[in-house]
Amino acid sequence: MPDSIKCYVCDKDIQARKDLVVTNRAFTRFLTFHEDCYKKALKAGTLLGRPANTLSSDIGMGVILLIALAFYIYTRHPLLLLVLVGSPIYRFIVWWRFERRLSS
Ligand SMILES: [Zn+2]
Repeated sequence: MPDSIKCYVCDKDIQARKDLVVTNRAFTRFLTFHEDCYKKALKAGTLLGRPANTLSSDIGMGVILLIALAFYIYTRHPLLLLVLVGSPIYRFIVWWRFERRLSS
């Protein structure tokens, strides 16, 4: 497969969606890992960014969206609108670029 997803740590192909961890640095560069490689790198203290495709990150995003929505209704601040629109798009990009290509 020419467009296989490679692990940033061990440089081997990632086969299954449940084995995939996607992180980003400053919303620009996505890094992909095996779950085990990510955990090992974390333990070694390597700064890899926060995972974007885990259950806890999805819940965290849901909470952020609810808070942003509440504040937006209250303040109508345009920056909150950016969060409300941008966060789901960002999550969709992660899914589209990486998770979609792997079987679960
Ligand atoms: Zn790996």
